[in-house]
Amino acid sequence: MPLTTFIETFGAGAAFLSRGPGRVNLIGEHTDYNGGYVLPAAISAEVQLVFRPSDDQTVDLVSLDFNHRDSFDLDHLVETDRKDWLKYPMAVAWALQEEGYALRGIKGAMKGSVPIGSGLSSSAAVEVAVCMALCHAAELKVPREKLARICHKAEVEYVGLKVGIMDQFASLLGRKGHVLFLDCTTSDNDLVPLDESKARIVVCDSRIRRELTESPYNERRRECAAAFKLLQRHLPDIKTYKDLSIPEFKNYADGLPETLRKRARHVVTENGRVLHGVRALKTGNLIMFGALMDASHDSLRDDYEASCPELDILVELARDVHGTYGSRLTGAGWGGCTVSLVRPDAVEEFTRRVSEGYKAQTGRSAGIFVFSPAEGATVERILP
Ligand code: ADP
Ligand code: MG
Repeated sequence: MPLTTFIETFGAGAAFLSRGPGRVNLIGEHTDYNGGYVLPAAISAEVQLVFRPSDDQTVDLVSLDFNHRDSFDLDHLVETDRKDWLKYPMAVAWALQEEGYALRGIKGAMKGSVPIGSGLSSSAAVEVAVCMALCHAAELKVPREKLARICHKAEVEYVGLKVGIMDQFASLLGRKGHVLFLDCTTSDNDLVPLDESKARIVVCDSRIRRELTESPYNERRRECAAAFKLLQRHLPDIKTYKDLSIPEFKNYADGLPETLRKRARHVVTENGRVLHGVRALKTGNLIMFGALMDASHDSLRDDYEASCPELDILVELARDVHGTYGSRLTGAGWGGCTVSLVRPDAVEEFTRRVSEGYKAQTGRSAGIFVFSPAEGATVERILP
C-alpha cells in the first residue's frame, strides 16, 4: 500500500484507500465492438490510491510506479495533448464534470500491481481507483454502472482510445468468486459464480507486444462490419451480431467472400460460446467451460487469424498439463497474453511446464500470473 509515501509527502492525518482492480476476459473475444457478449473477471492485481480530500480544487498526485509528483486544477481542466500517467486521472475528473458532478481536490499517492500494457487493463484500474477517490472526496453517491460509463467516456473521449466498455465494467462490477457476464451493446450484466476451490485463472504473458495500430485490429473491425452489412441484406431485422443465430448465419454464410465469412463465423460462434459458457458455469461444469475456451482459441487462430506462433505455443503447452480445463489467447491477440483455467492443485506443475516449454521453444521468458476472481473497486477509510 502506498501509505508511507502518502504520509511522507502530504503529512499525517486522515487517509482513505481506493482500489481499482485489473481484469481478465475468460471468453468472448473480439465480440465487444461487434455487438456481443464478454465474460471478464476482476483480478487481485490492482491500482491502489491512498488519498485525502483537500481544501481546494487541486488534484495533487504522486505515482510510485512512475516516481513522479504532478497536479492539475479541477477548475481549469482543458483538453491536453500530454501522454503521461497523469492524463488518466485528468480524464476521469473531466468525465465526471462533463456529467455534471461538482468535484473537490484530493492529495494522493498511487501504486499499481497490474502489469502495464499486458492486456490486464491497468488503464481501467487507474481510472476506477481515481474515480472512486474523487467521488468519495466530493461525497457523491453514483451507481457503479454509471461510474463505469464515466470511466469509459474518460478513456474514449479524453485519452482518445476507442475501447469497449468491458474493462471499466469488470473493474467496478466484478465480485469475488464470480465472473461478469456483460452484453456490450446494452451493458446488461449478470454475475456468474466461478468456484475458487475448483479453478484458478492463470494468465501467461508471451512478452510479444503489438501496437493495436500496427496490428490487423482495424482491418478486422472493417471486415466484420462489411460482413454484417452483407448478412443484413438477407436478414434486415438483425441490428448487431448477437441477433444472429448460428443456424441463421449458416444459411447465408456461403454468400459471403471467404475472408469475411471466416471473420463473421468467429464472432457468431464466439457469442454462442459465451452463452453456452455461462450455462456451463452456472451448473459448475468446468470441463465444458474449458472445452469452450479451447474452441474459442481455435476460432481466433483459424477464423479470426488473431493469434501468433508464441500464443499458440503457450496454449498448446497449457493444454498438455493434466488439470488444465481450457486455454486461449485473451485480449486482442497478435501477442499479449493467454488465459487458462487450471485446477488449483495443478497450478504449480502448470507454471513449471509452461515456463520451461516456452523458454525452450521460443528463447523467451513468459510472465505467469495466477488469479482468482476478485472484488470490484472499493473505497474505505484507513486512518482516522
Ligand atoms: P493496459 O493494457 O495495461 O490497460 P494501456 O496502454 O491501456 O495498457 O494503459 C497504460 C497506461 O495507464 C500507462 O501508460 C499509464 O498512463 C496508466 N497506468 C497504468 N498503470 C498505472 C500505474 N500503476 N500508475 C500510474 N499510471 C498507470
Ligand atoms: Mg488499457
